[in-house]
Amino acid sequence: MRFETISVIPEVFSAYLGASIMGRAQRSGVIEFVSHDLRDWTHDRHRTVDDAPFGGGQGMLMKPEPIYEAVEDVASRGERPHVVFFSPCGARFDQRAAERLSEKGRVLFVCGRYEGMDERAYELADEVLSLGDYVLTGGELAALVVMDAVTRLLPGALGDENSAQDESFSAGLLEYAQYTRPASFRGMDVPEVLLSGDHARVDAWRRRSALERTARWRPDLLSSAELTAEERDFVSALRAEGEGEQR
Ligand code: SAH
Repeated sequence: MRFETISVIPEVFSAYLGASIMGRAQRSGVIEFVSHDLRDWTHDRHRTVDDAPFGGGQGMLMKPEPIYEAVEDVASRGERPHVVFFSPCGARFDQRAAERLSEKGRVLFVCGRYEGMDERAYELADEVLSLGDYVLTGGELAALVVMDAVTRLLPGALGDENSAQDESFSAGLLEYAQYTRPASFRGMDVPEVLLSGDHARVDAWRRRSALERTARWRPDLLSSAELTAEERDFVSALRAEGEGEQR
């Protein structure tokens, strides 16, 4: 997978992408990363990328011309990239979107700054993504978040090939509770079944744990999760209990 960014602060990506799993993914060739400086596509002495908004108002907007030139130039070199812009107005980024992006060969992220971009710039986007209902100072963190979430889905990025499969959201539920040594810690004991070595019982316990945690923290996920009739009854009972406690 080849990731590229277009940004006015191209230097901010390297520390994060060079470390730990992202660093290893780059060194082993699972991902390739290139950061482009938007100012390389300006033509004035001050390398201007912003201007005041028509109609007045606070702050500056990113001008369309350097963005068009940059995206067209970068896209013309090699395989056509999937072009992603960021904005609080975009579609909410989630694990499904990460899975969808992990199928692409080349993704180009265009990161906004200031008060955002001239509306015409978004015509270049294959999709516009938002991290959530809050406003960041720029799209760079959004690009890092998306690259991180996509990379851990790529074959060879995580040590264990299965570790991305059981995780939260992958099956429409939150992940089950996990424990490591010591088996007893400050009066809190690891559930006995996890020490039993009985894989069928462990699997059954984990499924119940995932259902319990989802019912407790993210009941909104349950309506679209694939559950058996028995599991539906189990979560309805849990939710009735939870409502009883709140009263
Ligand atoms: N004035 C705009 C916000 C601009 S913030 C508005 O009110 O909608 C500047 C840049 O930060 C945006 O262009 C975008 O690239 C990035 N950004 C801000 N919030 C974001 C979010 N929630 N998700 C993804 N990118 C975001």
